[in-house]
This record gives sequence, structure tokens and C-alpha cells, in this order.
Amino acid sequence: MAGTSNGEPLIAMSQVNKWFGSLHVLRDIDLTIDRGEVVVVIGPSGSGKSTLCRAINRLEPIDKGEIRFDGQVLPAEGRPLARLRSEVGMVFQSFNLFAHKTILENVMLGPVKVRKEKPAAVRERAMGLLQRVGIANQADKYPAQLSGGQQQRAAIARALAMQPKAMLFDEPTSALDPEMVGEVLDVMTSLAAEGMTMIVVTHEMGFARHAANRVVFMADGQLVEQAPPTEFFANPRSERARDFLSKVL
Ligand code: ADP
Ligand code: MG
Repeated sequence: MAGTSNGEPLIAMSQVNKWFGSLHVLRDIDLTIDRGEVVVVIGPSGSGKSTLCRAINRLEPIDKGEIRFDGQVLPAEGRPLARLRSEVGMVFQSFNLFAHKTILENVMLGPVKVRKEKPAAVRERAMGLLQRVGIANQADKYPAQLSGGQQQRAAIARALAMQPKAMLFDEPTSALDPEMVGEVLDVMTSLAAEGMTMIVVTHEMGFARHAANRVVFMADGQLVEQAPPTEFFANPRSERARDFLSKVL
């Protein structure tokens, strides 16, 4: 279900280009993402998936083209950029929790330090989020005391604590032991079902099949094709996609 829609997409990239030196990593990317939509991005290593994600919250500035978020061109600096970043939650392969803070403190940090919200209210919300991702009983532990799956769920709770309009997941289960992949995907699946706008880079084709509204296939910095998962997996149109799927499925 789409959220508060005024008709325009939440994220709109048009003719986005990015180079790292002479390496052309994003080539004429046109991609729009509607409110409440779940888009899974797949493609070979080095195809530009992470750079695409990072461009959306301006962790990587682009060289050409335009990215709009919620109707606004991405701000380049200062408070507007900080606000944008707080509206776009990001979860990485490495959990990036603060090692010297407890799980609860990790989740509370952004709202209290960046948003200057009252700690008591934030604590309540943070505990609710830890409950939601199934680790409320780990609140007072330190990251190193948790399993990888629990740490990644804590990282998701931390991102959600900022009440983002969209969540970006860049290979969130790639660093996990296989037995912990499911618990993280389950949290992401329920988030998707609750209507969160999500971009998910993953090699988990099962998740793409059942949770995505759309699959986007990238290769060599280009958006090669995009389609609903049933259509994409049953009938990939490009040779590149067919070749990729034959290796991962
Ligand atoms: P993917 O996530 O699909 O594996 P990336 O977006 O990480 O791809 O990288 C796309 C290409 O850009 C790769 O060739 C990678 O080596 C290169 N690249 C990524 N980040 C940088 C950087 N900071 N400096 C130079 N090259 C980079
Ligand atoms: Mg990557």
C-alpha cells in the first residue's frame, strides 16, 4: 500500500551519471520509486548497485543528471542534507553499530543527538522497535554480545528510529552465517508488508520473488531491465539477465 501519496514518486532519478575517475559507474540511470514500493536491485558484482544506493542519500555525489527525493532535488550540504539523510534509512552489509554503546543506546542515538528529541520518548519508541525486530531482550547488551543476525536487526531498528520515509538495504544479509539470513529477511518482509518504501540490493532471490514489487537488473552501471518479479524470473528479456540468473538460481 502506498503511503501519503500526492501522486509523484518518492524517489526519482533521471539521467543519473557518475564516474570514479575514468570508470563510468552509473550510466544514464532513469529510475522512479513510488511510495510504499519495494524494489529489489540485482546484478553482478561491480555493476554499480552500491553506488546507486549511496547516491540516493548523497553519500556519493553524482556528476550528471538529477535525483529527487520527496519532490526535492537532493541538497548538497548543511542542514537540508542532514535532514535528507535522516529521512532515508540505510542498512549495510557490515552492521556498523557503535561497539561501545548498548543496543538500546545505538537505537536512541540518532533521534536524541541529531534530532534533539526528548530521551524518554525516544527510549519508548526504541524499545518498541527492538520489540518489533525481536531483540527487546538484548537492549542492554553491547553489539559484540549479539549474533550477526541480531546485530543486523538492531541496525534496522536504529535506522527506523529516525522514522525514515524510505529504507535502503545494501546486501544486508551477505555477511551473515546462513542460519541467520532468514531472521533478517523476515524483519524486512514485515517492514515491506507494512508499507515502507524500500530499495534492497540482495542476492536473495527468494526475497525478491515474494517481497518485491519490482526487480531492477543492473550491469556495467546500466539499468538493463526492470519488471515485476514473476515476470522477470519467468522471462528475463536481456541476455545479461539470463546469464546472471543462470549463475545465481
Ligand atoms: P556493486 O555494489 O554492484 O558491486 P559498486 O557500486 O560498489 O558495485 O561499484 C561499481 C564500480 O565502481 C566497481 O567497479 C567499483 O570497483 C567502483 N568503485 C566503487 N566505489 C569506488 C570508489 N570510491 N572509488 C573508485 N572506484 C569505486
Ligand atoms: Mg555493492
